[in-house]
Amino acid sequence: MISPVFYILVSMVFTSTALSIIFFIAWRTQGRKPHALSWSIGFMAATLQWSANLQADWFASPALYWLVVNALALVLITLSIRGHCQRTDCRMLPKNLWPYAGAVYAVIVWTTIIDPHVGWRTALVPGFACITLFLSALMIIRYREKPNAAEWAAAVSMILFGISQGIAAGMGLLQGAGGDDVYRNLYLHYNFITLPAGYIATSMFVILMLASDISERMKEIAIRDELTGLFNRRGFKEYGSLAFSHARRNGTALSVIMTDIDRFKYINDKYGHAAGDAALEHFSKLLGETRRSEDVLARVGGEEFALLLPGVELRDAMAIADQLCAKVGSTPMEMTSVGLPMTSSFGVAAISDEDRTLDDMLLRADRALYRSKRGGRNQVDLESSQLVLAADGTLRPLES
Ligand code: GH3
Ligand code: MG
Ligand code: MG
Repeated sequence: MISPVFYILVSMVFTSTALSIIFFIAWRTQGRKPHALSWSIGFMAATLQWSANLQADWFASPALYWLVVNALALVLITLSIRGHCQRTDCRMLPKNLWPYAGAVYAVIVWTTIIDPHVGWRTALVPGFACITLFLSALMIIRYREKPNAAEWAAAVSMILFGISQGIAAGMGLLQGAGGDDVYRNLYLHYNFITLPAGYIATSMFVILMLASDISERMKEIAIRDELTGLFNRRGFKEYGSLAFSHARRNGTALSVIMTDIDRFKYINDKYGHAAGDAALEHFSKLLGETRRSEDVLARVGGEEFALLLPGVELRDAMAIADQLCAKVGSTPMEMTSVGLPMTSSFGVAAISDEDRTLDDMLLRADRALYRSKRGGRNQVDLESSQLVLAADGTLRPLES
């Protein structure tokens, strides 16, 4: 009768091969991320390892079999943690983890050939796996402020798998130097129950994490302007609408500044499109310099930008626009030989009781911007519905 262990080993060969192919495809199709390649090669080593497990009697001696199987297992473990290190920019660990794997392997060689100790030589690989799984989980969770669901799931499955590998290591060690049969059987049974499940669950969550990396990247591309790195119109609408709803709900202040570079066509025509692009970057930097973390700054059109200011009253927004207008006018863009002077017109509006959506407010800011242009450019204006006639006959902002 064929032993059940045989079937488990065969299924591990197939599972590792499938995982290696999955990570290889992910590497090829998803921007050749180095971590996907590390995991693909790691599972290739795992396929060889499980194949060697299946064919233990092919080896000239049990010691050689043991050394080969453990070397391949260490390759899988090291490439697995290396992948997580690559994905998270290696902020916690040194980039090169091979010396650590080498040190573990040296002890395995020592306890297999030179000074045989069954307990140690069995416990080292699951022990190393336990430590690297914990470290990988930690790297994933600490990679950014708010890990997503896929990252949490991957980290938790790694911690559980790490605990089970730690227990396996303990059982391995309990065999002692000579190899106690009871603990050997316990170790084998425990490993064959937990290893396939840990392997598959952890890998599935890592694959899910790769997929969520892609979808986050897509979302980021969809809401960012490539040239300036600011939000585009879609990003502005998305984050701006949140700020708008918040202000609506809580009755807090909210203002918006719209600005459009003056005579931008002239810059393009006279100095070329590349200089025009550089002018856009220069302009976006000037606008971003004094931005607070809650402000939403976006390039909403060709040379048109919007700055949403939560908690800011119309009067203060006017002052901010005035400062920006002066700053743009007095900070020419550095070009190779000359400085390129630039001005911009501004329109300001604040949230009003009639506004139902962010667009209503933007429309008023846009109208104000149009007034600035018509009034001679390089100035700040606000929409007339938010002006009041002061006692001296002049138009004043509503709140001043
Ligand atoms: P005004 O003072 O009335 O705003 O004049 P303007 O020339 O700035 O106005 P208009 O909106 O007619 O021109 C905008 C120009 O911006 C037209 C377009 O060729 C240029 N533009 C739009 N997007 C880009 C871009 O990404 N790079 C460059 N270099 N130019 C752009
Ligand atoms: Mg313009
Ligand atoms: Mg324009």
